[in-house]
Amino acid sequence: MQPFSRREGNKLWLPALATAHSHAFQRGLRGKAQRKGNPNENFWTWRGAMFNLADSLTPESIDTLSRQAFRELRLAGVRTVGEFHYVHHQSGGHPYDDRTLLADIVIRAALDEGLRITLLRTAYNRGGFEREIERAQLRFSDTNVDDVMRDTETLISRYARDPRVRIGLAPHSVRAVPPEWLAPLGQVAERHNLPLHMHVSEQVREVDECIAETGRRPLEFIRDSGLLSARFCAVHATQLSHDEVRMLGEAHAFACLCPTTERDLGDGIAGITALREAGVRLCTGIDSHIVTDPIEELRSLETHERLRTRTRITFDPQGRTPAEALWLDGSLNGALACGFSDTGGEIAIDAEHESLRFVRDDQLLDAVVFSGSTHALVLNESARR
Ligand SMILES: [Zn+2]
Repeated sequence: MQPFSRREGNKLWLPALATAHSHAFQRGLRGKAQRKGNPNENFWTWRGAMFNLADSLTPESIDTLSRQAFRELRLAGVRTVGEFHYVHHQSGGHPYDDRTLLADIVIRAALDEGLRITLLRTAYNRGGFEREIERAQLRFSDTNVDDVMRDTETLISRYARDPRVRIGLAPHSVRAVPPEWLAPLGQVAERHNLPLHMHVSEQVREVDECIAETGRRPLEFIRDSGLLSARFCAVHATQLSHDEVRMLGEAHAFACLCPTTERDLGDGIAGITALREAGVRLCTGIDSHIVTDPIEELRSLETHERLRTRTRITFDPQGRTPAEALWLDGSLNGALACGFSDTGGEIAIDAEHESLRFVRDDQLLDAVVFSGSTHALVLNESARR
């Protein structure tokens, strides 16, 4: 197996990191949703705060927040972002004259801050199964699936010549997209060979509602709609059944885990060992930008599994150390899930950083992954801007 890290002087060179799931505008929630405003705070009450933010955004504030979010990612060693973009329209739901205005702003922000971006054009339509749509959701919502496809095709042709940009398609979730939209969206993704990302089974309530509506669990329904393939990425995958894990593995699909967001939102912990054993390719996402530390994301794939199983060293990858395998999850797999064929470069760790003193050379990456932080990154002048 190819070694993928190299030591040169005091620098350890590693594949650049990727974050396959981001909502850049949620950077605006930082510090804002950490006090009890309701006796039963949970994912859904947090979502209310996020909706208020989303409804207040302007093209200018989306630009500002996106640039800040992407600048922090760049400084943290990320070179590729999968932006699950769902704020499409004006407050109240009326489209902008240029329907993809906000997507273009987000793409420009990523490029200017030195990232490659996969803009995942999100399909959104409703409040949920038998749920009224809320006001803020009108900004995300298209009334018909043809508009989603048209916008996706506009973006594909607009960025076809820019190797730093990929376009993907993202049915938001089984709650926000009506069942009959999934098959046509899957066909568009297949026709254009697009990454196809979807929030899958983040919350128990969404699983229960999907069963009530379709008679099937979310991933069963997604499979039956023809969406599962090696281009598919299930974001969160926290509440999957054994059968659903097996389906994802058989498709050689991705699961994008977002541990710092999932723990902030009380989502639960995905069954990492089962996903790995089934052949699912794992990657990570910064998601809500609650913490911008991609090393913490990939470390947590292992450390959360230790908490869940009350054991240590939960996997023994063939030919690699766990730290090497985790780094590949957080770098190459994330880039592949975003439709890029490589990591887009390397980043350097300062092997003499305070946090790495007294560490043996042959255990340096173990220490970087399990004890280090992005503070040990060597930043070049352009990244420091
Ligand atoms: Zn998300």
